[in-house]
Amino acid sequence: MVRIFEIFTSVEGEGILYGTKTLFVRLAGCPFKCFYCDTLDALPMDSGKEYSFEHACRLIEENLQENTYKVNFTGGEPLVQAESVMQMAKFVQSKKIPTYLESSCYDAEKFSLVLPYIDFIKIEFKTPESEFVDEKHYPTLLENAIKCLHIAVAKKKTTYIKVVINSKTKLEPFRKLLEKIFVTTSKSQIAGFIIQPSYGIAEPGLDNLLNFYDAVYPYYQEVRIVPQLQKIIGAP
Ligand code: SF4
Repeated sequence: MVRIFEIFTSVEGEGILYGTKTLFVRLAGCPFKCFYCDTLDALPMDSGKEYSFEHACRLIEENLQENTYKVNFTGGEPLVQAESVMQMAKFVQSKKIPTYLESSCYDAEKFSLVLPYIDFIKIEFKTPESEFVDEKHYPTLLENAIKCLHIAVAKKKTTYIKVVINSKTKLEPFRKLLEKIFVTTSKSQIAGFIIQPSYGIAEPGLDNLLNFYDAVYPYYQEVRIVPQLQKIIGAP
């Protein structure tokens, strides 16, 4: 069984594949609480609707439009239902459509389960002020996200990094995060580094964003500041 919050076709609004026609499968449930979360309705574990695996695959097939570039498994936090994501992604790949996972990568074991059936991976690194988890649990979260990054690049998946920057994000912890990432991962192993400004809440100013850009640039010159396209064009 799988709990799906919604399934819809729209324009990919984030990351290195922004602008592509995409079928979004939004999994229900996320135990975390980033203060800038923009999918609050999908956070409760009992949100959305429960489907059998066969029914979920039928839904995907019925909703797949022509010229769809990829199917994006998102949330909530899709890894909460890792087993189901794995099965659905396998099904999508059998239709010769690329699969995409966007996750905070909080659990390397669950990530490893899904990975063989995912073509594009967005690893979102949370900064301490995101309120994703409390201070005590933050190092474990980071460790898992780094592990996921290592596993994904070792498997030669198209992997990119995203960090949401808001007006509360501090530069020093961000620099430490960069050190952790690039001490073990070379720039040739990743397909992008996206700085995404938060939208509608604690929005960072341009100077602030450029400070973060400047911090990444010495490690990775292809860093990009990319706002969420879907918010600008009013797409879901
Ligand atoms: S991990 Fe994602 S879905 Fe969960 S609270 Fe944070 S932003 Fe929202």
